[in-house]
Amino acid sequence: MLDKILDVLKNGNNNILYKIGNKEITYIEAFNKVVLIANNLKKQGNAPVILYGHKSINQFISILACVVAKRCYIPIDLCTPPKRVKEIIELSNATLLIKNENINIENIEVLTLDELNNKYENSKESYDVNNNNAYIIFTSGSTGNPKGVPISYDNLNNFISWVIKLNEFNDCKYLKILSEASFSFDLSLMDIYFSIYTNSSIIAIDGDTKENINMTLEVIKNNKIEFLIMTPTFIKMLLIDYDFNSINYENIKYMFFCGECLEVETVKKIKERFPNVKVINAYGPTEATCFVSLIDISDDMLNNNVLPVGKIDGAAVDIYIANNEIILKGASVFSGYLGNNSSNCFKIDNINCYRTGDIGYIDNNYLYCSGRIDNQIKYQGYRIELADIENNLLKINGVTAACVIAKYKEKSNIVRLIKAFVTVNNNISEDDIKQELDKIVPHYMIPKKI
Ligand code: AMP
Repeated sequence: MLDKILDVLKNGNNNILYKIGNKEITYIEAFNKVVLIANNLKKQGNAPVILYGHKSINQFISILACVVAKRCYIPIDLCTPPKRVKEIIELSNATLLIKNENINIENIEVLTLDELNNKYENSKESYDVNNNNAYIIFTSGSTGNPKGVPISYDNLNNFISWVIKLNEFNDCKYLKILSEASFSFDLSLMDIYFSIYTNSSIIAIDGDTKENINMTLEVIKNNKIEFLIMTPTFIKMLLIDYDFNSINYENIKYMFFCGECLEVETVKKIKERFPNVKVINAYGPTEATCFVSLIDISDDMLNNNVLPVGKIDGAAVDIYIANNEIILKGASVFSGYLGNNSSNCFKIDNINCYRTGDIGYIDNNYLYCSGRIDNQIKYQGYRIELADIENNLLKINGVTAACVIAKYKEKSNIVRLIKAFVTVNNNISEDDIKQELDKIVPHYMIPKKI
């Protein structure tokens, strides 16, 4: 699949491929840019490339150029503090950081896309680049350092080939697809590759727009969005506005969810307002490439307390339950964390397997996910290890012990807020601790109350 990506871009001609704010790029423009940047990436080196910034056309094009050049990319969102970026550079041995926003960082070549093109355009030398890994996503790690999940080209190819043949998407062609996930969250892979291989247009919203319901709804309406790819957290925000319904947003045909628990009450609200919309719930960890199972939520499923997260038959990988835990085995499963041997990753018959840490069960071919066996949580769509916050609290001068807990919504596994308890040996205040923590972890990992 991926080896055909340039043909797909070229054949997309003058259709819009990616739009964000008032900027857009067509398939053919993207093709030309990707070819140029990919060539220059091969001249710069062969190690991983960090793509640092918010969502933008440049960031999007850089991803495709890395894939074509076979240079493994590492997307890092602006909300990652520079200290954590440094850790990622050290862990990944990246030699190039393409910046879309300013960052002051050493021990790595830092260039904008224009600077990369100017510097390497006339250079004759080119590396023989053939990385096994397509990308590495860094997620929260229980040690207090970010944890690298390398996904190979084979993993990614398997995911794309599977997803575009799914019956649920039979009539998907030339759609207008809303993309809300940041590139550092692997849900964005669905945005990118599903859109490209269905010749659709990606309409992306940036972080600031996403914070503002009215602006987000305007994007959906003005662009006649037909397919929304999002987390349940995101739709809950949109549903606050009662005018968000099929009368005012008549083009919406699909709502695709992944990344956290989709509640029955949320789907009931959706179906009241959008009776004909197809609601799809998908499940999977970053470690198994975006998602591995999905299901079209039918009206009769809304009579139960919980919704299935997929079907076992037709999933991207084999799915088993062992000691109540969901285990994945197959070609989409990664082969292990960066520089870290984890007992969660193993092989059967030389095929990669992953113990997800998700508590689950299978009933009548349907997969259910009912919580975690460990202290990993999803908070407002973000994946967090509570021990990551604890270990970073301990790095703050004066903090001698820390315990972080998640408060759940009653009778559910939806996290309402994160709380921390600390002991200190100086007169550091709650606000001081929050300020210090803000320098070393992303904003969503700062406990509401300490
Ligand atoms: P991430 O690696 O950020 O994609 O997070 C993966 C984790 O999110 C999974 O291991 C689950 O705990 C949770 N998750 C993903 N999809 C769903 C879903 N549809 N329902 C419930 N939890 C989910």
